[in-house]
Amino acid sequence: MDRVITVHGIWTTGKWQENIAPVLWPHFEPVSVKYPYYRWLGPLDLVFEPLLLLPGAAFLVLAIQLSWIRSYFAIVPLWAVLLALSYWITRFRRQKVLDTFIEETAHTTLPGRAPHIIAHSFGTYLTARALREFGPTKSDRVVLTGCVLHRNFDWAALLSKKEGVFKAIRNDVGRKDLPVFLVGFLQRSLPDFGSAGRYGFQSTSGSIHDVSQCGSSCKPCDAGAQALVHNIFNDHGGHSTTFLGPGYAANYWLPFFWGIDPKEYDDFSKLCWAVTNYEALRPKLKQPGVRPSEPSALFEAELYSRKWGWAAGTFAGYVETEILKDHPEYKQDQNHLDDLVFSATVGVCQAVADAMDAQSTKLAVRRKSKKERRDYTSAEDVRIVALNPLEAVKRALEELYAQERGSS
Ligand SMILES: [Zn+2]
Repeated sequence: MDRVITVHGIWTTGKWQENIAPVLWPHFEPVSVKYPYYRWLGPLDLVFEPLLLLPGAAFLVLAIQLSWIRSYFAIVPLWAVLLALSYWITRFRRQKVLDTFIEETAHTTLPGRAPHIIAHSFGTYLTARALREFGPTKSDRVVLTGCVLHRNFDWAALLSKKEGVFKAIRNDVGRKDLPVFLVGFLQRSLPDFGSAGRYGFQSTSGSIHDVSQCGSSCKPCDAGAQALVHNIFNDHGGHSTTFLGPGYAANYWLPFFWGIDPKEYDDFSKLCWAVTNYEALRPKLKQPGVRPSEPSALFEAELYSRKWGWAAGTFAGYVETEILKDHPEYKQDQNHLDDLVFSATVGVCQAVADAMDAQSTKLAVRRKSKKERRDYTSAEDVRIVALNPLEAVKRALEELYAQERGSS
């Protein structure tokens, strides 16, 4: 099973990792990376090393009190040296956390395997450095949220130096992210740090696209362009807005990991729900044995005419291709094949709608009961797998073949 690494920021234990794990499972195995090094003093640890600064400051105060240092002018350079040393030494704490991140994720980056990643705040810095600096660390698709990286972080250069180190970056930008705004002031003193989580990555190489709303599709990509990095802007987003419940993970990150545009996935889910649940619309569907049907029927257009990225063509076309892979002999009887495609296509809609129901049930139960936060599994998971369109097709075809065997 593919894995999704989650890594939190500073001043937190990363409870959001447990909150979104039930959304990731059963499609992906969640791997939560935790580290204690910035949990108590947070930003201070980034700028000055407290294990040096605090004893040093106490010593200087004591030295004045005991008159070891008589001149106040003499204290100024001593303070300057102490602050400079405390700043310089912070790199070792950052390196320690980076080593922890690499150790904790080593089992996910074996040959031929590359996990997806969701990184928040300081976790985005760890992710970028691990991908850049540690040979075996690689990823598939990466979500950055509350990103503290420099806006000019060169993802394209990283990819050219380390082939296949990532497939795509989704940067969820919160235009009201105050901590990231403040980190922007540190970008001259701390390498790689900046405010990409508030203003987006920028590049002159054309490998970055901006999407104005988190639920919108990317217009350049719709027109056939491609980009390594997408900045997804959220006008009202703060530092942790994406973790207010499991909504972001369910709506945007799951389809992103499947390689499906979230807007298209939303359209697809609506279609499946409508086909399955609105009886008044069912007569508009093509019925088995009756053709040609009305070409203007809304749902037929969605099932048979609209091209979907996940299907690399039409919905029904994908289903037909899959049927013919399993049963090339059906090609000899086109009418029978058409009936099978119709039944399987509606079956896909039903499997997806059933999975949507199951997911709602699972998440509602977890909202009421917060006892077992670390248990992300549920009895509904068998049904929830079909949220992924490709899994829904597999399920619909299994049921179709079972019916075929039963009727023969
Ligand atoms: Zn794009």
